[in-house]
Amino acid sequence: MSSSKIYAVSLGPGDPELVTIKALKYLNKCSVIFYPQTVGSSGDIKSHSGSILNCLDIDKSKMQGYTVPMKVDRDDALAAYRDVAIQASDLCKKGSDICIVAEGDISFYSTFSYMTDVFNDNNTDYEVVPGIPAFINAGAVGQIPISLQQDKTLIITGFSSDSEIEESVSNNHTVVVMKPARKKNQICDIIDKLDKSFIYAEGVGTDREFITNSTDVVREREKTYFSIFIINNYPQK
Ligand code: SAH
Repeated sequence: MSSSKIYAVSLGPGDPELVTIKALKYLNKCSVIFYPQTVGSSGDIKSHSGSILNCLDIDKSKMQGYTVPMKVDRDDALAAYRDVAIQASDLCKKGSDICIVAEGDISFYSTFSYMTDVFNDNNTDYEVVPGIPAFINAGAVGQIPISLQQDKTLIITGFSSDSEIEESVSNNHTVVVMKPARKKNQICDIIDKLDKSFIYAEGVGTDREFITNSTDVVREREKTYFSIFIINNYPQK
């Protein structure tokens, strides 16, 4: 049996210095690195993972981008992940170590979990390398604690009614809102109504990094996928 493996490597939120030593070791030793990218309507290719990889001192010729369709219907995206998983599994069976990467932590609202069925079915050995999720980095950049003592932290990627956020925030728990772009102004209304403090962070760890604790400023920002809210009343700068 081949001793080669698939490494599911977390790249951290954007700052290349937040890539772990273990991640770098596997990125250097593997033969192929699969990373996700999107293609815009004008054919422009974007990849947050690709940008992080480009900042690292690794052999760029082994980087292989795969396109994830950005449609509300997830069937095509799931097919793309499955396709990569099959390619990676085949290469691994032939004796190559393969990395599959994702930004932040690869097990946290991430793609790798959709691929593991293929590896389990094919008896392909894999190892998951954890990384720093964006919300942890946002807390550091915004210089606020994420949670303290007995307080709870609620992490959400969407909400169907304002009360989902209001109840937690009113009880002094921390609420982290991921993927908030479409609802950012609604979230600002909730924050203002409850008179809570918060940080809003875009592109943490990248050259587009932007951070504010003003709802007026957030309302004026363009919507962007790589943004996050952390709402709580802990002391902040
Ligand atoms: N695996 C990632 C999360 C992927 S889901 C992690 O561990 O953080 C994608 C969401 O993560 C984005 O919509 C955004 O809310 C958040 N995110 C990821 N990277 C970010 C960054 N550099 N700055 C701000 N938010 C980020």
